[in-house]
Amino acid sequence: MPRYTDNEIIIPYCTDASNGKGYADELVIPDSVNEVVEFMRSTRGMVTLSGGGTGLGGGRIPDGGSIVSLERFQACTYDSALKQLTVQSGVSLADVHRIASEYGCFFPPDATEWGASVGGTMATNASGARSYRYGASRHHVVAIDVLLANGELMRLRRGQHTAVDGILKLPSAGGDVYSIPVPAIPRPLTSKNAAGLFLVPNLDAIDLFIGSEGTLGVITAATLQLQILPESVTGMIIFFQTSDECVSFVEAIHENELRRLVTPPRLVEYFSSSSLAVMRTKTTGIPDNAHAALWVEIEHASDNADEVLEQWFGWLKDYTPLGDETWIAGSDAGRERLRRFRHALPSGVYERLTATGQRKIGTDFAVPHSYLRQLVENYAEYEQQFGDRMILFGHIGNAHLHANFFYANDSEEREAQNAYMNLLEFTLRVGGTVSAEHGIGRIKKEYLRKMVGDDTINTYRAIKQTLDPHWRLNNGVMFDRV
Ligand SMILES: Cc1cc2nc3c(=O)[nH]c(=O)nc-3n(C[C@H](O)[C@H](O)[C@H](O)COP(=O)(O)OP(=O)(O)OC[C@H]3O[C@@H](n4cnc5c(N)ncnc54)[C@H](O)[C@@H]3O)c2cc1C
Repeated sequence: MPRYTDNEIIIPYCTDASNGKGYADELVIPDSVNEVVEFMRSTRGMVTLSGGGTGLGGGRIPDGGSIVSLERFQACTYDSALKQLTVQSGVSLADVHRIASEYGCFFPPDATEWGASVGGTMATNASGARSYRYGASRHHVVAIDVLLANGELMRLRRGQHTAVDGILKLPSAGGDVYSIPVPAIPRPLTSKNAAGLFLVPNLDAIDLFIGSEGTLGVITAATLQLQILPESVTGMIIFFQTSDECVSFVEAIHENELRRLVTPPRLVEYFSSSSLAVMRTKTTGIPDNAHAALWVEIEHASDNADEVLEQWFGWLKDYTPLGDETWIAGSDAGRERLRRFRHALPSGVYERLTATGQRKIGTDFAVPHSYLRQLVENYAEYEQQFGDRMILFGHIGNAHLHANFFYANDSEEREAQNAYMNLLEFTLRVGGTVSAEHGIGRIKKEYLRKMVGDDTINTYRAIKQTLDPHWRLNNGVMFDRV
């Protein structure tokens, strides 16, 4: 098994897309589960787990000790009867999507960054644009293989071990039982949440590890439940003169979807005026008077595209005078162009940091849907104030927006921090979450504590202590030991 101590090899693994930096004594790249087991049993030191390095919370950034990267875990098998894809953790989301489509299927959540690994995706319970309709990754996972810090391998299938009366009992291979407390903990009233361990009354053991950000075990493989590709999908970019019009339309989508009057979209994504300004530098055809836009996709039967479009156009003319300027994509290639149009925003943020050496602070907050208009108004005020030092976009269908504040010096940093903290206070005041999809990592631990309180953090600590008594795995990620 390759083990490296040469700094030049280790350094690229000491960062992620948050641009933070860490250090480690050693990088280990095992070829097999047995090698990871052997490594975990033979060392006493701290271990940081490394996936694709696209994380935005600094979770894979080491704080000394060893890094274990599962990048060589690339095996896949497909069960055509069940439409289940079993993938080892090093497989990228790009490969998951490619393989799924070869079998006429897809993996629904579609997190934006396809360079992410399956291990990282499970560890953060990633979600994506299509989570509007399909939820986060955990809803599409039927089994996982997890290795505990003591080198014990567990194969967990959904439904096999669930909490009863506030306790989840996990039998160990050695005949012991791990007894994990699962107290009733209030959860935010948002449609997405990736902040903290997933503790619900009938907790399934799988869901404890999914979203645990590598703090409880090493996920070595996952079995994903794929869905059959829909017959047809139509994508649209709809332009609005104001963000207010846009919010009214999103609210109408919710209303109509609840009442089942229109074909429901599978994603509802937002481009604010600042993101349209960025996109105008990359592409032509955005109407001059557009100050907000939505990207939507609708699944439908292959013979009713006209009916679907008629329904949507009949409806959106009441909300935007720019309805005739809508971009429509019915083909795979056309829809891929719209997807890339959206992906250019988060990847542009990342490129800007690398190119300019600027830093940024970015929100991943979501609020209950009833606060959507207030949310957009609050962010819009900061867009005015920050000009090109802020880009705002996100999953508006889930009342979940990403505001990225860039800064180049101390005073800009203070200004960005103030804006971030004001938006955080608003989020918590209305019962929202400090992280809807990126997770907590090393960066947002204090915000998680503010959100869930000390008692809940103590529960997380007790669970960690049960499964990883020497605090070796991803120590200092999500919550601290003391
Ligand atoms: C441009 C861009 C767009 C993005 N868009 C989205 C989005 O739409 N939705 C979204 O949810 N996220 C998004 N992200 C964030 C990121 O892609 C996800 O958090 C992703 O799931 C991280 O996967 P990774 O393999 O890169 O993990 P890493 O960054 O390597 O690690 C993330 C965490 O997982 C842990 N980990 C990694 N592998 C394992 C394992 N095998 N077992 C246990 N723990 C492990 C790490 O220790 C760390 O705590 C985006 C990031 C970028 C840069």
